Amino acid sequence: MPIKIYLSPPHLGSNEERYVLQAFETNWIAPLGPNVNLFEDKIGDFYNNKLHCAVLSSGTAAIHLALKLLGVTHGDDVLCQSFTFAASANPITYLGANPIFIDSEEETWNISPELLEDAIEDGIKKGKKAKAIVAVDLYGMPFKVEEITAISQKYNIPLIEDSAEALGSHFKNTKCGSFGEIGILSFNGNKIITTSGGGALLAKDKNLVQKAIHLATQARDQAPHYQHSEIGHNYRMSNVLAGIGAGQMEVLEKRVHARRRNFEFYKDALKSISSISFVDEPEGYFSNRWLTCLLTDSFETREKIRTNLLNKGIESRPLWKPMHMQPVFSKNQKYVNGVSEDLFNRGLCLPSGSSLEEEQLVNIVNLIKKTI
Ligand SMILES: *Cc1c(COP(=O)(O)O)cnc(C)c1O
Repeated sequence: MPIKIYLSPPHLGSNEERYVLQAFETNWIAPLGPNVNLFEDKIGDFYNNKLHCAVLSSGTAAIHLALKLLGVTHGDDVLCQSFTFAASANPITYLGANPIFIDSEEETWNISPELLEDAIEDGIKKGKKAKAIVAVDLYGMPFKVEEITAISQKYNIPLIEDSAEALGSHFKNTKCGSFGEIGILSFNGNKIITTSGGGALLAKDKNLVQKAIHLATQARDQAPHYQHSEIGHNYRMSNVLAGIGAGQMEVLEKRVHARRRNFEFYKDALKSISSISFVDEPEGYFSNRWLTCLLTDSFETREKIRTNLLNKGIESRPLWKPMHMQPVFSKNQKYVNGVSEDLFNRGLCLPSGSSLEEEQLVNIVNLIKKTI
């Protein structure tokens, strides 16, 4: 059965094509250009101009540059949320540093403040203080902002907020992406808004963002010839793709609204089924509900729902497999409490696209009810 309903497909508004066409009409197919500036200005406006922004080729590139800007280098330890997509952790290894994985707490499913502090203390006792913390707003839910930023400040270890899934989310009315020294966004095809592929690096410190742009454009010195005093990357977003991003920023609020509507629909329609549950927003938390995740009573129930949906051409997916359970990171240090492993076993991401129609939601819910 071919897939008819995808987990999180792109959803374009009406102006994306116009901005891309402008790039064609002005022959601005070169990497930099007016759409890059326009997209960055729109992101800046979204953050009330309290953050500076560099749009890049991917969220992964943004994390790589963030770590580099914070001085992470060969042999360093970086404390990273375990329950996440591999792109939160992979760039740590690009720099020859070691990710140490930290399990989650149950309220937001993000990095556990207690385990994070244990890991920091252990490192200090061994004479090796971690160089950075990577905390994630998973599925759009902000992490324990107050606790985690307090720990970051107490130990003077900089925080990177991986907000790849959380554009449009906020905590106590402050937007996700702004809680660390550096925040990152992703505009991959499955995210809440997309440029087909892309990302952004955000920081209050303008110098950090300027340095990021320098590193993202091959670290070219000011000179008429090509001269380089350090190693750079080719990580800048192209002017064509930035046109899509500029259009997508104009519909972001609508996309958040639609994703939250999906969540409320699923939750309400399945509330009478005792073997299914959803996680609510704690007080002060606002999630963009990028993906609606349900929890079942067992691995078997989860798999029954997933395969029955698939047989009808409906894509769903288990929650992220924690990094400390991944073969590639099997030798890495970890601080675990069983929370993310349990979520991985019992959780399922449901179709969550902002273009889902009510009839499709009804079909999905009926199939789940029939399964149980
Ligand atoms: C998507 C994602 C990334 C990586 O973003 P790309 O733009 O795909 O490189 C990083 N972290 C998390 C949590 C993500 O979901």
